[in-house]
Amino acid sequence: MQPYPMLQSYLQDTWVTPTATHASAVAVRDAVTGETVCHVSSEGLDVAGAFDHGRRVVGPALRALTFHRRADLLDATAAAVRARREELYALSTRAGATLNDARYDIDGGIRVLRDYAARARAELPDVPHLVEGTAERLARGEDFLGVHLVAPAPGLMLQVNAFNFPVWAPLEKLAQAVLAGLPSVVKPATPTAYLTEHLVRIVTEAGILPPGTLQMVVGSVRSALDLLREQDVLSFTGSAVTAASLRTHPNLVARSVRFNAEADSVNAIVLAPDVQPGSPLFEAFVREVVSEMTVKAGQKCTAIRRILVPRAHEAAALDAISAELAGVTIGNPASEGVRMGAVVSLDQRDDVRQAVRRIAESGRLVHGDPDKVRVVDADAERGAFLDTLLVSADPDAAAPHEVEPFGPAATVLAYRDTAHALDLVARGRGSLVASAVGDDLAWTSLFVRESAPWHGRLHLMDSANMTQTTGHGSPLPALRHGGPGRAGGGSEMAGVRGVLDLMQRTALQASPRLLDSLRATHTRSSADPV
Ligand code: NAP
Repeated sequence: MQPYPMLQSYLQDTWVTPTATHASAVAVRDAVTGETVCHVSSEGLDVAGAFDHGRRVVGPALRALTFHRRADLLDATAAAVRARREELYALSTRAGATLNDARYDIDGGIRVLRDYAARARAELPDVPHLVEGTAERLARGEDFLGVHLVAPAPGLMLQVNAFNFPVWAPLEKLAQAVLAGLPSVVKPATPTAYLTEHLVRIVTEAGILPPGTLQMVVGSVRSALDLLREQDVLSFTGSAVTAASLRTHPNLVARSVRFNAEADSVNAIVLAPDVQPGSPLFEAFVREVVSEMTVKAGQKCTAIRRILVPRAHEAAALDAISAELAGVTIGNPASEGVRMGAVVSLDQRDDVRQAVRRIAESGRLVHGDPDKVRVVDADAERGAFLDTLLVSADPDAAAPHEVEPFGPAATVLAYRDTAHALDLVARGRGSLVASAVGDDLAWTSLFVRESAPWHGRLHLMDSANMTQTTGHGSPLPALRHGGPGRAGGGSEMAGVRGVLDLMQRTALQASPRLLDSLRATHTRSSADPV
């Protein structure tokens, strides 16, 4: 595979090298070996030109396509990425990902494209816009009706993405943007920008998307935020701190630029009082926790950070989770038998160590050593390796509910009674997802009623569905991804609703004749744009 010493950006349908020198650019290191993978900078890039190209050149062509033609583009893009996914798997090892982790990111991204294509064909008409619902009579007569039109906005989507899903995140956002008729400008996070760069090469080399549908700026886009306009969307994924600073950016505020934030959150799983240690449901709970801690080395925004258990079952839970963690082989993600690779960088490793120490101040470390780890086929110091870290903490302390160790770490918190458990869950101040595990319908119903407002998604596992669950940490296209409060207050996916939310919804007051004409299904002709 070709190394990319100075990562290029893809602007106005051309690969562009920044004007930075290696000294002024950021060096990105291999998570396993510490070697330099590439350098990243946006110095000298014409981002304003790229925005203009998206809005002026491709926007009109995309908006002219019907929902079904846009869906065809997604299917063809999914096929193109699938055909070259081995290249992305191989490159993912440099970010510390095992093959399983890479599949989560890459195959997950391909699935979202396909899923959205199928949904658009099944649920949206073959026209470029949607006349929503049934028209309402607004006057005594029959000729003055009210309805909503959902039409593509003449803007672009600026995707500012986090490092942990360099393939899934741009594809998931691209799927919704293309269906909504918006061109995308992707800004990947620096530590894994080389993976998104390779994805963009695969997609653009396939020549499927109309020119300008997908552009990419590598490096900082801070000054580009001043270039966003009223019809654009800023779709952000990353930390709560960055989300807060973008939300109050003066240009975004002044122009009411649409802003969606998917931020970090301190997600919880709650073991209900009726689940007995040693039961199959208890074992499923333990497996779910360990899977969340180890898949992608715990670097998932949805990963379980807080494990709430009834006080009577605390010791059993700590023993069972520790025993399962002890069987996890850590090391070079390319080596046989390795279940968990490295976190993305040495800085990230230091952040996790620090976060775990803060949480453990009110309790103790039960499993793992933040400073030492045994690894297979790798150098534990040069690579960003971490042991799996299980903490037992005072449930009423602040840190377990506030600090997100973005790595293979989680904290067990013992609750006194249901009211205490509900209070503790809410102390995360809003999360992407929470799980409850139990068979007691009355208890789970109460949990759902009381805690739903704090979470974007609730994953409710019982003895009947425990072998079928898609898992606590997997966002699904059919369901909302996004959570209140600390999780950013945003919303993505949720089926075609997520697409329509990226478009402009305008109330129409008109005659039935006009509404029928707007609803008329498009007939394809050979003159249609691709
Ligand atoms: P981050 O530091 O907030 O960075 C996220 C993105 O924002 C990066 O592309 C970064 O670029 C960019 N950025 C940072 N400051 C900016 C500014 N002032 N203006 C414009 N762009 C700016 O987060 P991260 O470390 O990449 O990702 C890890 C975090 O993301 C975790 O906390 C995780 O929970 C969260 N996350 C949430 C979700 C979700 O769906 N809710 C998904 C994944 C991750 P540079 O890299 O160039 O600085």
